[in-house]
Amino acid sequence: MKKRAILLVACILSTLIVNSQPTSSWFVVKEVAKDVWQINDKGAVIYLIIGHDSALVVDTGIGAANLVGQIRKLTGKPLIVINTHGHGDHAGANYQFEKVYVHQADLDAAATNSTPERLKAVLANMPEEQRPSGDDQFKGKTFNTKLIPVVEGDVFNLGDRWLKVIETPGHTPGGICLLDIGNKLLFSGDTNNGLVWLWMKDALPLSRYLLTLEKQVQKIDEFTTIFPGHGDPLPADFIKDQVACVKAILDGSCQSKPYESFAGDAKVCTVGRASVAFSPENL
Ligand SMILES: [Zn+2]
Repeated sequence: MKKRAILLVACILSTLIVNSQPTSSWFVVKEVAKDVWQINDKGAVIYLIIGHDSALVVDTGIGAANLVGQIRKLTGKPLIVINTHGHGDHAGANYQFEKVYVHQADLDAAATNSTPERLKAVLANMPEEQRPSGDDQFKGKTFNTKLIPVVEGDVFNLGDRWLKVIETPGHTPGGICLLDIGNKLLFSGDTNNGLVWLWMKDALPLSRYLLTLEKQVQKIDEFTTIFPGHGDPLPADFIKDQVACVKAILDGSCQSKPYESFAGDAKVCTVGRASVAFSPENL
């Protein structure tokens, strides 16, 4: 009887362990495709793609919390870390990793936005009750991260999944997407999301961004789902709405509205599911 009771307790415990999801009061974590985890870092979305031999981390978020600790709750495999571009909400936690891949044209931005000093500034600007606590507080080793440039066509081999770099300049000069070739998934950073910012100083002219979108449409059969750097996954044909939106801005047929954000003011146009915030001085 005693033996049966012990066995029962062991069974319940093992069930709890298997079914338990990694918890955090900072990150919101969910599996969005097989072995693809979405780690939401207060609105900045990081993806962890787990392969047979290694795992790919797409973007490092805003950098205020213990990202590497969160990732280690999901996988113990060797990590390859890449930034889709150099903005501070995509490269923020680079300092938690020894090396990070980024496109050459965004290398300086990634270097500026990913230092431990920046972490201190980010935390100092946050009310104390909003700062990460417990396991979410980063107390690990900080790195003088080595940034390694990538170019179009580079492929990261995870053992049973291959992710190819696609250059997608526009939102920033060095923006890239990553295509999971076998599974037809596109990790798009800020190139494709519900509202793309094309008005910031480092954005390329809107007409250049249109070429990027048209290049993506030519490859649209190569992916079924888009995993953006902000917001939930999108169907591949979402890019067609983006193309229509940018064309409507360029040919003057879009009735744009004023757009205000914490970072500055611009204009915004919406067509179908896609909105683009732009500067009339940078078409
Ligand atoms: Zn960005």
